Amino acid sequence: MGDTIVLDPYDVWQLTKGLGRPFGELLGSCADLHVEEGVIMPHLKMREETESCAFLGTDGRCTVHAYRPGICRLFPLGRQFDDKKTSYFIVPNGCVKGGLSKVRIDRWIGIEDLPRYEEYKAEWRSLLRTLQARIAAESSVEVQRNVNLYFLRTFYMTPYEGDAAAFYGELAARTRDFAAAAL
Ligand code: SF4
Repeated sequence: MGDTIVLDPYDVWQLTKGLGRPFGELLGSCADLHVEEGVIMPHLKMREETESCAFLGTDGRCTVHAYRPGICRLFPLGRQFDDKKTSYFIVPNGCVKGGLSKVRIDRWIGIEDLPRYEEYKAEWRSLLRTLQARIAAESSVEVQRNVNLYFLRTFYMTPYEGDAAAFYGELAARTRDFAAAAL
């Protein structure tokens, strides 16, 4: 899976709360960084010897199931966004398990208040697109680097406290500050 399980702030909030470890501690052992269209993004780290996720248990089960990242929650669904709506589809040949049955999407994903989460995902995607455009338009490598470090510190390295309402409120405040200072 390489660097495909990209982590967003909601994932980091859930993982750090569930594991009781700050994100800085997870970097290197369970998470890593890569560059996506000029922006440094964290992703789940794969074990070199098996190329499997660092959170995959020896019994083949996820050891962080209750607080697994959003991409893992989605599988084998895909998701697409337009301006006002999020829709889901089944990825062809995504799941090889037999005997599948119908399940409601919100129950499958298992995130409280899915409409609010979808709103957050759309806002986050919009921020990333703006940041990528900002980095692409910036000729100074040093400024690009500083903006990226500020992005990492603001949205990933600084811990999130409290419940979902506190998380969304805190993220909105950080987004405002980040946009004012760096975009
Ligand atoms: S479901 Fe769990 S083990 Fe599988 S990729 Fe996601 S975090 Fe890793």
